[in-house]
Amino acid sequence: MSTETDEFKRYICKVCGYIYDEAKGDPDSGLAPGTRFEDIPDDWYCPDCNVTKADFTALEPRAETADAGAAAMAWSAGAGAADPDAVVIVGGGMAGWALAEALRERDPRRTIRLLTADSGDYYTKPRISNAFARGVAIADLVEETGVARAARLGIDLMPFVRVLDVQRAQQKIITARGGVPYGQLVLATGARPRQMAFPGGAGAPLSVNTLEDYRALRAALEAQAGSPAHTRVAIIGAGLVGCELADDLAAGGYPVSLIECASRPLPNLLPESLSGDLEKALADRGVQWHTEATVERIEPVAEGTTRLVLASGESVEAEVVISALGLVPNRELAERIGLACHAGIEVDALLRTTDPAVFALGDGCEFDGQLRPYVETLRGQAAALARTLSGEPTVYRPDAGIVQVKTGSLPLNVCPPQTDGGEWVEISGDGEGRHLEYHADARLEGFALSGCHARQARDLETRLGEPVADTRTRLAS
Ligand SMILES: Cc1cc2nc3c(=O)[nH]c(=O)nc-3n(C[C@H](O)[C@H](O)[C@H](O)COP(=O)(O)OP(=O)(O)OC[C@H]3O[C@@H](n4cnc5c(N)ncnc54)[C@H](O)[C@@H]3O)c2cc1C
Repeated sequence: MSTETDEFKRYICKVCGYIYDEAKGDPDSGLAPGTRFEDIPDDWYCPDCNVTKADFTALEPRAETADAGAAAMAWSAGAGAADPDAVVIVGGGMAGWALAEALRERDPRRTIRLLTADSGDYYTKPRISNAFARGVAIADLVEETGVARAARLGIDLMPFVRVLDVQRAQQKIITARGGVPYGQLVLATGARPRQMAFPGGAGAPLSVNTLEDYRALRAALEAQAGSPAHTRVAIIGAGLVGCELADDLAAGGYPVSLIECASRPLPNLLPESLSGDLEKALADRGVQWHTEATVERIEPVAEGTTRLVLASGESVEAEVVISALGLVPNRELAERIGLACHAGIEVDALLRTTDPAVFALGDGCEFDGQLRPYVETLRGQAAALARTLSGEPTVYRPDAGIVQVKTGSLPLNVCPPQTDGGEWVEISGDGEGRHLEYHADARLEGFALSGCHARQARDLETRLGEPVADTRTRLAS
């Protein structure tokens, strides 16, 4: 048991990135400030995604002062001494860093270089979705500067550098600051928001995929005069990010309009009843829904205000417009250097591209014909790839693919079925939420849980593939 004088520690949810800070506790769940992680009861659940304490890991102390600009200069100066056997990682998002960390754990001496177009500062992206209502400042989203993380892990970080090309025959990557040799190259280049150009003369809508994007959104909101109630926000797209941002901003007092071309939110992920519940939960929070609605034009109407004209002839006015139309994997570099790409960078069971010295993981890669842009996926990939790169070829085994929808008004955990031909069966449903299972060939092949039922996800995950012959009997009794 810790004593009161020990420094408070922070623990991060490996699934969604929620941080439990012992100093702050989790008063909403009855954990007073100062509650030590080890003293939290085992039946406590992550307030964002409902996994248990076992899915948390200790977070290293934050370093406040390191300077990415200085690191970039230092790296350029020392890059000539590059080790030709180095593992070079391109991309400083969660995937690139998860791999660097897993590799370092396995091998304390291997040269690891991480090049990234941004600062490399480490943050868990999912926290962006509900930072506003939680009152989290942008600076507090950065858990560790890139420079501090690199120093802690003993790796070379080259921030603010875009990889332009790769000379595969020479095993050398090309940047504006010169070439860098590699023994093994890993592309962790992630994905970017899908952009649509809307006619009408207004500026392009904002999108939210990086901390910089989020900084721009917060600045746009703060630039408006008066209370949040006077700043109308229009969000185009009711997918995961659109629904989560709508929920967060509505909870923060902003009038939000959500415009979706399908007839319901998250139609490819949620069974119909849960889409309906989510629509209602967001409406109860004040969100104005426009379903089966397509934005045709966005035009300026007055200083700071724009009008979104819908195909139906209706229009929506807003001071801030966000586009949340999904992600496109960054596969251009891979394509340019002749690696096989489909929707993302194609990889085999060892996460190898069509060049055996080049690997890929995270949002940019396509495994088994699927994009899986989730934290749990990239963590599993990082763990398997670290072994492979350390000389122990390890097949990546995909997780069940549980998707958390972090809408505080109705939290959802969904394991989408990987098979067709079955049906959704409602096991229970009441004012507190629903429990639906997907049964195919009398087996449990997926589930969708909302509200208080969302926390059964890990139990159900262990039952995937099991016979469910007794379900109807259970329901009838
Ligand atoms: C708002 C939001 C909420 C989310 N919520 C959840 C959630 O609840 N649960 C969940 O599982 N997932 C969630 N996700 C998805 C999850 O955050 C992503 O799957 C994950 O962060 C992807 O990490 P990545 O490293 O693969 O990609 P990215 O974060 O896109 O990182 C890619 C990196 O590559 C760099 N790069 C790209 N091209 C080059 C180049 N040519 N040269 C150098 N560097 C390059 C970029 O600068 C960047 O550093 C959410 C995402 C968003 C946006």
